[in-house]
Amino acid sequence: MKFTDEIARRRTFGIVSHPDAGKTTLTEKLLLYGGAIQEAGAVKSNKIKKGAASDFMEIERQRGISVATSVLAFEYDGKKINILDTPGHKDFAEDTFRTLTAVDSVIVVIDVAKGVEEQTEKLVKVCRMRQIPIIVFVNKMDREGKDAFDLLDEIEQKLELRVTPLSFPIGMGYDLKGIYNIHRKNVNLFTGASSKDIHSTTAISDLNDEKLNQLIGDPAAETLREELELATGIYPEFNRQEYLDGELQPVFFGSALHNFGVKELLDGFIEIAPAPRAKNAEERLVKPNEKDFSGFVFKIHANMDPRHRDRLAFIKIVSGTFERNKAYKHVRLDKNLKFSSPNAFFAEKKEIVDESFPGDIVGLHDTGNFKIGDTLTSGEELHYKGIPSFSPEHFRYINNADPMKSKQLAKGIDQLMDEGVAQLFTLELNGRKVIGTVGALQFEVIQYRLEHEYGATCSYENLNVHKACWVDGSVAKPEEMTDFKRVKSKFLCKDKRGQLVFLADSSFSLQMTQQKYPSIKFHFISEFE
Ligand code: GDP
Repeated sequence: MKFTDEIARRRTFGIVSHPDAGKTTLTEKLLLYGGAIQEAGAVKSNKIKKGAASDFMEIERQRGISVATSVLAFEYDGKKINILDTPGHKDFAEDTFRTLTAVDSVIVVIDVAKGVEEQTEKLVKVCRMRQIPIIVFVNKMDREGKDAFDLLDEIEQKLELRVTPLSFPIGMGYDLKGIYNIHRKNVNLFTGASSKDIHSTTAISDLNDEKLNQLIGDPAAETLREELELATGIYPEFNRQEYLDGELQPVFFGSALHNFGVKELLDGFIEIAPAPRAKNAEERLVKPNEKDFSGFVFKIHANMDPRHRDRLAFIKIVSGTFERNKAYKHVRLDKNLKFSSPNAFFAEKKEIVDESFPGDIVGLHDTGNFKIGDTLTSGEELHYKGIPSFSPEHFRYINNADPMKSKQLAKGIDQLMDEGVAQLFTLELNGRKVIGTVGALQFEVIQYRLEHEYGATCSYENLNVHKACWVDGSVAKPEEMTDFKRVKSKFLCKDKRGQLVFLADSSFSLQMTQQKYPSIKFHFISEFE
């Protein structure tokens, strides 16, 4: 197959949702269509149920054996589909944000009864900021939930989207009769049958067709006609370009559990979702069909087995062909590296592959060369943008609890930070180390992993920090900068990239500082223009 055809047939996306909305169930059903798995229950939920570190560790251990859950690839209708896993748990939101830099589109899953939930709001905001095309799937239509119009309203308001339904439910919950596929003009009847079955549909090109009454009964047919007429009046006509530009979001309804409405979603998805898109590097815009290879690391997965300390760095290919055993430039280290066993991911397994194309994810064995955000190229000096760090929510001093193991501790901290488990700040004044995390759970995870993987023990000490503020002195008056550094020396530190960070202890003190030094800019995010 030609290089350009390989690119054109790829669809790389993420499913985002609040925990329990049905992401795992939907993923599994999508894989069934691809024939990638044979039965339900094959996709492991990556859910942290008790909110405990032990839960996380268990999941990670399983993944260490089968890291395939991070990327699930399958073939459907001539398309190569790559689903990137995004943790729903809020403590791992940063991981999800990073994964969103590697997707070309997303499907947002919403529970019909619960409507738009907190985590969905946050994640969709990030997608909107990056103009990622979004498809919405309203799930659990087999249960009583909100009225379709009310829910579409809620999605528009809370998620600040402009929606248009491409399928429409006929009843819901106990009375769910089926789905009308607006896009393809057919009816899919709900039988509540086995979730493995692929349902057949009945074409209804004209809504006034009597056949509709025979299929779903007079009252339901009348209601559907009225609702669709109303919907046509309220919602804009679907326009693919607007969807691709992030200006219009199509909505599908269904029940992942019953494999209902999922085919409509999948067929719609492969028809409209974008092939790999061009990506901005600091130097220039890079197009997928360029001959030279380039890609970036968006995730690093450590092997949880202490006897095998290797890690897997996940690279999203942006341009060109990635080939096995060819030397590529690690731009940050200015070093050429060859990879003899790059992994590609299929439903539940990984395999060594000779060639991969834009849109694909390859897993490279790494002994400590990679950090999240690193760029790999055929030789060009490129730096992909867009994997910033956000201000953590929780901060603690980390102390060495075993003086004999200080080397192990330093190495462990270093590597865990490269993986993006948490952020490390080093105080300017005394060199003390501060760990910042999104959720409290990570502190336990770090302690556990330091002990089990590096043989080091640590203790924590509370530290009162409101926000980490990256200091932008690009237009600062020198005298303001000097005074700021002197007065606030106790609160200044460096992040892992060596950028200056001010740890403000309260919003009040941050406000006062901003007033006192108006020429210095403070950002809650590590990348700024
Ligand atoms: P995730 O946290 O988003 O991955 O959610 P899961 O896929 O694990 O689903 C959470 C729960 O909702 C599970 O008990 C599922 O069986 C259930 N569920 C998922 N989809 C549906 C659906 O369409 N209908 C009903 N009734 N339950 C569903």
